[in-house]
Amino acid sequence: MDPRQRALELAREVGFDLAGVAPLAPPPDAARFDAWLDAGRHAGLDYLERNRDRIADPRALDPRGKSLLVVGLAHSRAPVALADGARVARYAAGRDYHNVVGRMLRKLARRLREDAGLRAGRGVVDAGPVLERSHAAAAGVGFPSKATNLLHPRFGPWFFLGELILEDELEPTPTPPAGSCGTCTACLDACPTDAFDAPGVLDARRCISYHTIENRGEVPRELRASFGEWLFGCDVCSEVCPWGHDAPDLAERFGVHDEVAGGSAVRWLELDEGTFAERFVGSPLKRPRRAGLARNAAIVLGNRPTAAGREVLLRALSFDPSPLVRETAGWALARAADAAPSAAAAARARDGLARAATADPDDDVRAAHARSLEGSP
Ligand code: SF4
Ligand code: SF4
Repeated sequence: MDPRQRALELAREVGFDLAGVAPLAPPPDAARFDAWLDAGRHAGLDYLERNRDRIADPRALDPRGKSLLVVGLAHSRAPVALADGARVARYAAGRDYHNVVGRMLRKLARRLREDAGLRAGRGVVDAGPVLERSHAAAAGVGFPSKATNLLHPRFGPWFFLGELILEDELEPTPTPPAGSCGTCTACLDACPTDAFDAPGVLDARRCISYHTIENRGEVPRELRASFGEWLFGCDVCSEVCPWGHDAPDLAERFGVHDEVAGGSAVRWLELDEGTFAERFVGSPLKRPRRAGLARNAAIVLGNRPTAAGREVLLRALSFDPSPLVRETAGWALARAADAAPSAAAAARARDGLARAATADPDDDVRAAHARSLEGSP
């Protein structure tokens, strides 16, 4: 059998929904990527800058590599919300896809070697120095979109990508499935933080997904109110996309993590380091670390004020060991006080913040609390 055909068949036998072959060569979007980096739109994703050369020419990853086998694993499922309405990106509700796709890629590499005599080498999932979507488009796995993701007629934007470097020169599969964004601009119009500078140009410095997952520091204060209920990631640009509205429900593939099934913004703001480390094993939700997740929870509690939320924000102000969390809790408490149902509830929240504005051990946090009390964004 044709080795390319056999490789694609094996990818499906291992469980991938999509597969294609591209040459191991500079990705078609290399120049656009360079311009994107030069404009600083990658925010704090410094590993992209550090790996610029390898991303521009992935042959540096494996000088013997000739082809890239690109695979896709669908993860479409219903929207995911915690008990108090805080939202988590759908992909993050269950097991960590890095582990799942990584395991499948290792199995595929073994099958390619044993069953097809192909020389499969390094596998890459998401964090590797590969411009995944560009190579996947070159392999015909989907078509590029104005939201910068790759779309597939059946799965829309709801699939993970992975790649295997092959030392064999396989014929590419460059024809993408039929489809395009056409005149649609739904994602550009719906983005809560206006993070698209142009169709296909995302500024991570304004993207909720970037800030709630990758940013380890303060979220810019002027953006926080726009985060709404998004505690981890953001699916808005995917949810409004007409492609994928009829995608199958594949929730059982990744399951639902216990902390998502029983979690809430209130609970996640109060987790200590030990509980966090123990409870989020195997979940993508551990990526921002304990303080990052608590920071995100505080923002949501400011945007969706409740009595329980005000109480945990008050406690976080005084007792959270992280200045990052205390600062964000102050911002959120001021916002929640404005929406309190009674003057007494508002006064209790503001008094707590005023005390923290003089008592917090960190100069920057005290200054931030003072701003929050003044009503500055
Ligand atoms: S993930 Fe959310 S914030 Fe980021 S570009 Fe999409 S809609 Fe905008
Ligand atoms: S919402 Fe519309 S413009 Fe955006 S990616 Fe989907 S089809 Fe393209």
